[in-house]
Amino acid sequence: MQYTEIMVRYGELSTKGKNIKDFINRLGGNTVKALHDFPDVQIYAKRDRMHIELNGTDPEPVLARVKMIFGIQTFSPVVRVDQDIDAVYATAIEMIKEQFKPGMTFKVQTKRSDKNFPMDTNAINREVGGMVLDAIPGLEVDVKNPDIELLVDVRLNGIFLSSLTIKGAGGFPVGTAGKGMMMLSGGIDSPVAAYLGMKRGVDMEMVHFFSPPYTTQQALAKAKQLTEVLSQSVGAIKFISIPFTEIQETIKETVPEGYLMTVQRRMMLRLTCAMALKRGGMAIFNGEALGQVASQTMESMMAINDVTTMPIIRPVVSMDKTEIIEIAKNIDTYALSILPFEDCCTIFAPPSPKTRPDLEKARKYEQLLDIDGLMERALDGVEIDTVRPGTDYMHPQQAVFAELL
Ligand code: ATP
Ligand code: MG
Repeated sequence: MQYTEIMVRYGELSTKGKNIKDFINRLGGNTVKALHDFPDVQIYAKRDRMHIELNGTDPEPVLARVKMIFGIQTFSPVVRVDQDIDAVYATAIEMIKEQFKPGMTFKVQTKRSDKNFPMDTNAINREVGGMVLDAIPGLEVDVKNPDIELLVDVRLNGIFLSSLTIKGAGGFPVGTAGKGMMMLSGGIDSPVAAYLGMKRGVDMEMVHFFSPPYTTQQALAKAKQLTEVLSQSVGAIKFISIPFTEIQETIKETVPEGYLMTVQRRMMLRLTCAMALKRGGMAIFNGEALGQVASQTMESMMAINDVTTMPIIRPVVSMDKTEIIEIAKNIDTYALSILPFEDCCTIFAPPSPKTRPDLEKARKYEQLLDIDGLMERALDGVEIDTVRPGTDYMHPQQAVFAELL
């Protein structure tokens, strides 16, 4: 079906009171960014609805992108025809044919805001319904509970037909909740946590620690690629990489083995806070789930959380691993997350980290380190990239070869 536009219904708007304007402006801006690579598409965010005009663009990839944008409750692909009833008949028949399966029922529901149009709503319902029934053998009418509801909207600037309502990503437009810093590893949990935070409207920046030569370029590329997947719903995400080698080597030499993990995590958290303060972040997000591994007991959280008063939000804290995996599969991060490239934590993980570290001991062992100096040097090595949809970080060499051909 050659749809001409997509009509978008907002999500959770009723609960937001005076923030409606911010919600709509953000959603409009985010949609422009998310669809930036479709040059003919035009977006109009109005108070009650958003209209995405396709202007000849193939609707399928645009619909797929729209499905990922937070703040959208439902949306419908629409065909606009001129105010010509024969065009309405033809389009209605084509549209219902595409959806029809034997045994299905339908009804026509007309709205007429242009009262000058010569047919009234009853006449349109009846005539369009009759035409469609004649054209599709086996189709029946059910006005109470139809399988397909064809909406016909008669407006001054044309007649709009739609018959599909697609569920959107829900949540709030990214940015309406302010900025957060996501501690993104290459694992399964943190990309899911990032997704859930973004769904609440958080403008997320990714912070990733890497430890060359102990971790490979591929581990870094994997974290960027995960960011690329997440960027598809917002158009662009900042990716902040922080070199962690010196800190890990120093901790390994200095701190007793049982506390390597705790002290490393304290340093990661300090650095992430430093980035948040620099960049206007208001909270830190991570992928910790209670009880999964040694670093994820409440004692451990207490011993690590000690270095900051900034809120730490753990969107997946109470989920089972199977629930997290299910989301990861749905948002297309799972396949990447299970690629084998080790991240920096796995490599310096002691064989038996303390599952219930003691806060005072963590503080004491840490005094053996030059914390300020280590932090300063790590922050000097920070690199910030803007990750956009469609970039292939896992196979950069292929892109180079392609250029040479
Ligand atoms: P994940 O699946 O997200 O890696 P996990 O269950 O493997 O989580 P850990 O590896 O113990 O748990 O990490 C806990 C959290 O610490 C991660 O979810 C992530 O937020 C943060 N983290 C771990 N390693 C890194 C890293 N290299 N860079 C940034 N954050 C990290
Ligand atoms: Mg991990």
